[in-house]
Amino acid sequence: MHCPFCGHEETKVNDSRLAAEGRQIRRRRECLACGERFTTFETAELVMPLVVKSHGSREPFDEQKLRSGLFKALQKRPVEQERVESAVTRIMQRLRGLGEREVRSRQIGEFVMDELRHLDEVAYVRFASVYRSFQDVEAFRSEVEKLRSNRKREPLAGQLSLLSGEDPASKKSGRTSKTSKGGDGE
Ligand SMILES: [Zn+2]
Repeated sequence: MHCPFCGHEETKVNDSRLAAEGRQIRRRRECLACGERFTTFETAELVMPLVVKSHGSREPFDEQKLRSGLFKALQKRPVEQERVESAVTRIMQRLRGLGEREVRSRQIGEFVMDELRHLDEVAYVRFASVYRSFQDVEAFRSEVEKLRSNRKREPLAGQLSLLSGEDPASKKSGRTSKTSKGGDGE
């Protein structure tokens, strides 16, 4: 690149090293004409959509805000930091994957809930109650119900074979038909 001091076309790189946990390359450069030294940072440009807030204003996507939202929901919960970082990465991938220039903050909230549901149930309910309470109480209630019924269903799945043939509905209907016939007792 051109020297920012004198505009000379040739600069040499004296040193390059990784920075920001490998997400950046930092180069020390020196101008071959004026001898000034300066630093450049190279990062991959991953364009995130703008966030449209519920009242319609726009703001740039803020990765740190997303991360702290997750950590807040996961406070004092036994979830490794690495798993939270993976969740942040996945959410950002999904947001970029939408291919939109703008994304509703509500959409980000939905993606966060998807991740929390897998990470930790308590954190999920924490987040969902704060996030949804002002929007839709019924929706939140049905989320919790869904969560409960999923939890009940999973341990039962293994016992399904034991239960086959004992469908309470068929038993009941059998009894009703018996009483309706009435003269079965002979
Ligand atoms: Zn120069």
